[in-house]
Amino acid sequence: MDHALREDLSDQLANYGFEMLSFPDLEAARLTMQAKVPLAMIADLSEAHDENPMTLAELKLFRDKAVPVLILSDEDSFQSRLQAVRFGGDFYFRKPLDLFTIVEALDHLTDSLLPDPYRVLVVHGPATGNPAVAALDESEDVLIHRIHSPDQIFDALLQFDPELVLLDIYYPECLGMELSAVVRQQDGFGGLPILFQSTETDPRKTGAALRRGGDEILSAHVDPGQLYRSIALRVERYRTVIAQTVRDSLTGLNNHTTTRKKLETEVLRNGRQGDGLAFAMVDIDKFKHVNDTYGHSAGDRVIQNLARLLKQRVRREDIVGRYGGEEFAIIFLGLDRSNVEDRLNQIRDDFSQVIHSYEGHQFKCTFSCGVAYFPDFDTAQQLNDAADQALYAAKGQGGNTVRQYHQ
Ligand code: GH3
Ligand code: MG
Ligand code: MG
Repeated sequence: MDHALREDLSDQLANYGFEMLSFPDLEAARLTMQAKVPLAMIADLSEAHDENPMTLAELKLFRDKAVPVLILSDEDSFQSRLQAVRFGGDFYFRKPLDLFTIVEALDHLTDSLLPDPYRVLVVHGPATGNPAVAALDESEDVLIHRIHSPDQIFDALLQFDPELVLLDIYYPECLGMELSAVVRQQDGFGGLPILFQSTETDPRKTGAALRRGGDEILSAHVDPGQLYRSIALRVERYRTVIAQTVRDSLTGLNNHTTTRKKLETEVLRNGRQGDGLAFAMVDIDKFKHVNDTYGHSAGDRVIQNLARLLKQRVRREDIVGRYGGEEFAIIFLGLDRSNVEDRLNQIRDDFSQVIHSYEGHQFKCTFSCGVAYFPDFDTAQQLNDAADQALYAAKGQGGNTVRQYHQ
């Protein structure tokens, strides 16, 4: 690809946290790939020629797992698309490049590299102590949290935030179906998948457990593969449902209600454990102007770009939500204050350099940010108000600023 495009792409991808290395030929790329496998390869179709001893399609398969290939092309004809496929292309982008779609493809690849393990809460009983559960515990695809007494379940739901609960039908303290009914009554856990494992085979008893909120009853002697498949099926479906009610449709981030709930949960949890947390509110500067000048869809694109950047720049354990129209919230867990502000300033700086492109228009935007810390305040609401005031102060300074709350 030509020098200017390469520089531009490299700079823009760097803003989203991707490092782009360029090579004069495939052999040079291969040498580097020997040491480190890239997330993806990008190649320009207009520069593809066949005299190389090695083809891109071969290079793609050079490591055990095929490296995805993004093809850039000047045209969009059947011939060029066919050629792209023959070169091993997995994604096809026509010039002039829409960076958004490239970042989207790279994000998608990143996500698929790090699938989130299924979070399973096991309330330990006679049947759930079997080897199948122990075997899943070893697997990286499932994250198991065990409690040994039914009365610990409220804390575990809140703290571990499971995607599935595995219960026994009998506990010394209570029946498993009573426990599942208790879970179902908890706000926010009505739809949580619940599996039972039991030696019970009497259909009247197992039927009662299902009526009281269980999804499936597995034998105490279930093998690990079958247990895994049952868990995967339920959790995948649960994730789809959750994604529709918990996530914002434009950005895929937590929506306002979910973000608020998580803030409350984290404040409660922090009141007990006390690693501290930071709550940051981010608002795009002069966003009305973007809508008025480039149109509402261009505005949507900016919102999506910022959402993506925020998500990429926080750690996996931090929480990002779309709080309102062009407003976002971040909950940083257990980071010291200077670290939080350094990160926010870095994100602010990177965002100010992102070039948003929409239907031929190119423009830049900035945001302002207010941040407040727990335990400086007692409740989620006070923390929220303090961050809001700090944001207001940041706007007062002309925008493109991160401010922490000062009394
Ligand atoms: P300030 O620098 O003070 O933040 O100015 P601003 O123009 O960003 O002001 P304000 O926050 O009041 O305006 C937000 C605008 O965002 C108003 C609304 O039309 C627009 N908006 C809200 N939600 C969306 C959305 O989903 N998409 C788009 N394109 N625009 C939205
Ligand atoms: Mg606003
Ligand atoms: Mg604004």
